[in-house]
Amino acid sequence: MTLPRYQNHVGGRACDPLSGRWFETFDPASGEPWALVPRGDAADADRAVTAAREAFESPGWRGLSPSARGAVLRKAAANLESGIESLARTESRDNGKRLAEVVAQLKSLPRYFHYYAGLADKIEGSVIPLDVPEMFNYTRWEPLGVVAAITPWNSPLMIASWKIAPALAAGNTVVVKPSEHASASTIEFVRLLEEAGLPPGVVNVVTGYGGEVGGALVAHPDVAKVTFTGSEATGARIAAAAAADIKRVTLELGGKSPQIVFPDARLDDAVHGVLSGIFVSLGQSCVAGSRLVVHESIHDAFVARLIEGVRHVRVGHPLDAATQIGPVANRDQFDKVRAMVERAERAGATRVHGGRAIHPAACPGGWFVEPTIFTGVTRDMEIYRDEVFGPVLAVVRFRDEDDAVRIANDTRYGLAAGVWTQDAGRAIRLAERLAAGTVYINTYRHVSTLSPVGGFRKSGYGRENGIEAIYDYLQSKSVWMGLGPVPDPFPAPGA
Ligand code: NAD
Repeated sequence: MTLPRYQNHVGGRACDPLSGRWFETFDPASGEPWALVPRGDAADADRAVTAAREAFESPGWRGLSPSARGAVLRKAAANLESGIESLARTESRDNGKRLAEVVAQLKSLPRYFHYYAGLADKIEGSVIPLDVPEMFNYTRWEPLGVVAAITPWNSPLMIASWKIAPALAAGNTVVVKPSEHASASTIEFVRLLEEAGLPPGVVNVVTGYGGEVGGALVAHPDVAKVTFTGSEATGARIAAAAAADIKRVTLELGGKSPQIVFPDARLDDAVHGVLSGIFVSLGQSCVAGSRLVVHESIHDAFVARLIEGVRHVRVGHPLDAATQIGPVANRDQFDKVRAMVERAERAGATRVHGGRAIHPAACPGGWFVEPTIFTGVTRDMEIYRDEVFGPVLAVVRFRDEDDAVRIANDTRYGLAAGVWTQDAGRAIRLAERLAAGTVYINTYRHVSTLSPVGGFRKSGYGRENGIEAIYDYLQSKSVWMGLGPVPDPFPAPGA
């Protein structure tokens, strides 16, 4: 069978990779390849960055007023509305996420473009009240140039939108490099955006392996900024490479986010919140609540309710509307989850639910694992410290509020934290004491274009979403203007 063959999208046209190579991308529900994706290299990165730099300097983009840029982004948002179903099918096929979940996620994307379209003409400089006579000073905000956006496989289009929408609203141009595990939807997405009237070269996509085309983008001298979402290890590598060339970087990395449950919580809600925080996307979410920190007095009963809640979950094909949990997104991740489960058991954690690979009748070759719960987890264990990015919950008990905060903050990460309590004072105290970029109280796992997302500690730096994100794609310029005579710096003696 011949597999469909994708092309890169550079400078306004679909093009074969200069490398002349493609690789197979897999359907996680069947474990079979379903399409060929360009395996770009340094020459492909260079072609895309050159197209983006030319577009950045072209009157067709540089010459647009911020309001006109906003208008183009609004059209892009409208175009996306019409493409959601088809983009969702591609993304679901490529990363195995349930179709219903992808559709819900993609329905939010036009909102990101509308939000930053609206912001494009509201970025104002200021007049500085100098203490120098006859001098006028003001500031303006200017775009950076070419932005390289490097994205992971779990939510390719949502994460690409978090980057592309503010970068374009600020007047930059973009080269997107999606994950080699789920590239197809990003290629289709960029085409749709461009059809809305973006000048050629304003958004480009090159696909391939991280160490090949990704590394070449980061090292390219004409890339002004790298915005990256992915693992901690890759983030560190990218930041080091960017530092060598004095490039700006935004890093959205991993997490080992705690959900703290106090005995006074509405326990039904807490059970739902903890289950959805770790199992709904199979833990393949940056804010996955992968550590449950539960009060010792309710530990056993709470864990029993979690097991009850997940015991009958329907595992199946991601396109089947009845499916509640689909496959793990790719073979590497499937192997990683199973290896970490095995090591957790060997280290002495108690597996109270799940942990095995499963083979649903409808998709026997797919990469499915059971939702897994470990109790008896201690701080020396890998399962306590390291991100699985899979459906594995590590349960730890706490004694009192200080103990809960200590355990929750006992991580090198700081992406998100959840608190379940009906004591408002305690909730507000914890919101302050928890070291995380997002704190959820009596809810979990929401994101909105209106509110910033980002990490503390090794979960990264920079923010996406909300007003502040656009400043990650802008630089200020200070303009000085003398209003009076310029004194002679070297007056003649006696003059
Ligand atoms: P990854 O780091 O393996 O890959 C991410 C991207 O980086 C891919 O496109 C990859 O090709 C590219 N890449 C790899 N090596 C590179 C290099 N040397 N130079 C340039 N690019 C390179 O991560 P992943 O497995 O795709 O994604 C999972 C990770 O992403 C998890 O750690 C998860 O927590 C994190 N994540 C974070 C957020 C957030 O907002 N903080 C959101 C989603 C996922």
